[in-house]
Amino acid sequence: MEIDVLPVGLLETNCYLITCPRTREAALIDPGWDDPSILEAIRKREASVKIILLTHAHFDHIGGVSAMIRATGAPLALHKDDLPLLRVKGWADMWNIPIPPCPDPDRFLEPDETLEIGSLRLKVLFTPGHTPGHVSFYEAEHGVLFDGDVLFKQGVGRTDIPGGDAAQLLDSIRRVLFALPDEVIVYPGHGPATTIGEEKRLNPWVQA
Ligand SMILES: [Zn+2]
Repeated sequence: MEIDVLPVGLLETNCYLITCPRTREAALIDPGWDDPSILEAIRKREASVKIILLTHAHFDHIGGVSAMIRATGAPLALHKDDLPLLRVKGWADMWNIPIPPCPDPDRFLEPDETLEIGSLRLKVLFTPGHTPGHVSFYEAEHGVLFDGDVLFKQGVGRTDIPGGDAAQLLDSIRRVLFALPDEVIVYPGHGPATTIGEEKRLNPWVQA
């Protein structure tokens, strides 16, 4: 499994390109900004992007979506509970961030469904709280999780933005993410990677 971490945009959102080494099929997660590094990574990997996945629809995760759809022709997928947020461009106007409108998704992501990207199997985990329709993507064979703005290295996603729910966020972390094996590597929407075990031990926001 090949993973490119591509920090893009004003808030340095981690956009992830994950590529199957056998088929070169790929998924693009959270293209937050139309940054040249994304297309460069796709070209370098000789990747064929099969799907554009959104963990959630905040502006800093969707700013590059329309450009990436044009460039790759790939369909867009999102959980349905974040569609209202997508339609207001993830509050971009509230913060005066100039991003182009996003089209509606081609399909909705269902909790616990498995997406096949070549030989990779991405399981959709429903992890609301930061937004109503936030999802995370878990690849069990390689032990990696892409969790957007749910759990960070010694941090958690903010819940003070309209649609946020602090109790729901903690429940998603404790009940869904902390049920994964300790050695699973967590690739968050901002900042460095961590592991489930490290966050169980050290994250001050999720201690009982
Ligand atoms: Zn967010």
